[in-house]
Amino acid sequence: MQIPLDKICVKSGVLCDKCKAKIDSGKYQGWEVDVMRALLNLESNFRELKNASYRKSVIVGDTLYIVLDNVTVVSRQLARALEKELSSLNIRRIFVVPGSNDPRKLIESLLPSQVLSVNTYYAPDGSTYYIAKLPSNERWRISELEQSTKAVFKSLSGSDLYIEYENVTVPGRPRDLEESKIDKTKLSDVLRRIGS
Ligand SMILES: [Zn+2]
Repeated sequence: MQIPLDKICVKSGVLCDKCKAKIDSGKYQGWEVDVMRALLNLESNFRELKNASYRKSVIVGDTLYIVLDNVTVVSRQLARALEKELSSLNIRRIFVVPGSNDPRKLIESLLPSQVLSVNTYYAPDGSTYYIAKLPSNERWRISELEQSTKAVFKSLSGSDLYIEYENVTVPGRPRDLEESKIDKTKLSDVLRRIGS
């Protein structure tokens, strides 16, 4: 487990000047020292932490997101164990998120949804923002997580994220509808011929 502060400082809770400077500069929050300590405490019990590298933690509402690099799969048990270790932070839920520099991968690890596309846009002020398109049939599952995803994305990438929903055609369905339309036209043709 790699952390951006000295392990000895984090474990003891007494920070040296170098570690203190990283907190004072705002790069890391004071409470993130507790998060790093909890991760170090659990390191020997969770295989996924062995090669993990701490990137950042973000609190949105009553949920804590811990972003770790060099992890692929994170067990739910790890999040549960962290919730226990960090009960003093008054957090209801903890999500451990695999970090990525690829905006699309980051969105995919934050949202339980298929991501159709992610496009990069450049605002006139020089800032970058992203628009992610998700299938509209996933909207009911995602709407609750939309705000927190945007907040976590912003604090990790420094960029705004917008989410749009797109209707995805269900294979088979549209053709069926078209066929029934054709059938109706044919039927009216037949009826007209019979009538004349
Ligand atoms: Zn230190």
